Amino acid sequence: MSESTSKPVLSIQDLVVEFKTEAGLIRALDGVSFEVQEGEALGIVGESGCGKSTLARMAAGILPESSGQRFFRGEDYGSLLSRPFDALRIQMVFQDPLSSINPRLRVVDIVGEAPVVHGLISRSEKREYVQSILEEVGLPPDALDRYPHQFSGGQRQRVGIARALAVQPDLLICDEAVAALDVSVQAQIVNLLMDIRAKQNLSMIFISHDLSVVRHLCDEVAVMYLGRVVEHAETAALFKEPMHPYTHTLLEGMPRISLHPREFMPIRGEIPSPLNPPGGCHFHPRCAFATDECGTLKPELREMDPVRLVRCHNAESIRSTVA
Ligand code: SF4
Repeated sequence: MSESTSKPVLSIQDLVVEFKTEAGLIRALDGVSFEVQEGEALGIVGESGCGKSTLARMAAGILPESSGQRFFRGEDYGSLLSRPFDALRIQMVFQDPLSSINPRLRVVDIVGEAPVVHGLISRSEKREYVQSILEEVGLPPDALDRYPHQFSGGQRQRVGIARALAVQPDLLICDEAVAALDVSVQAQIVNLLMDIRAKQNLSMIFISHDLSVVRHLCDEVAVMYLGRVVEHAETAALFKEPMHPYTHTLLEGMPRISLHPREFMPIRGEIPSPLNPPGGCHFHPRCAFATDECGTLKPELREMDPVRLVRCHNAESIRSTVA
């Protein structure tokens, strides 16, 4: 979607990820492509099981691809991952900070150890360095010597963010980073991420099932359904005029959005098993606009206007129906 003369921070091209399970082969990502530019925030949304967390791990270099390509600042992940571990300057913030934080370490070590190992600071500079990052994420100075269990959920997420920022990443991937928090705490963490992004011109990918969170944070949004991006648009355009029927059903769940409820039927049925996804357009069994070809022919992601890509055979007729 985004076009820029400089190299994107992240470029994902036609990425496929397949997992062998006892029950069969799961294609978790099916030809996903996008770019994230310097300082840009991309939201990735969809129901659980749509592949968005797999995508987050792929982008972070944690999982290998089955096919397709990944580039960080124009360099292939293959060569980056074979070099020292700070070559890929990407960090993740997870939903549950405790799952990625050693509960027996104090914050000074949780946040400060990686930058020492990466050679960003000397061991003697560690306390002062961590202190400055804690200040940046809104934690009090005495947090330095506390353990994870001594913090509230929101404060623990701030520790998780501090740990990610400490190694000075170029791209921060937040995977459901506020999903486990109370609504008021969610807002504080979202505001914190917005501040950090503005101050550091940090690129971000924000994975969420919650569109309202993504709406505040992101320049562009990619909507995923069963391993495929079905709509990718500038945030304002997506919320003003959702074009893919699945995007529309997701937005209908949000408060204060004026849509066209009579033209669009409510979403039907459950999300199908990724072990046996429907042929053609994966969404066709649930789509009120499905035509014969939808059940057999896979729609491609195509440009509908300068700010939007849509994967739907009938996007033009749907657009004129609801206009
Ligand atoms: Fe619905 Fe067909 Fe478009 Fe898929 S391709 S979203 S089934 S109209």
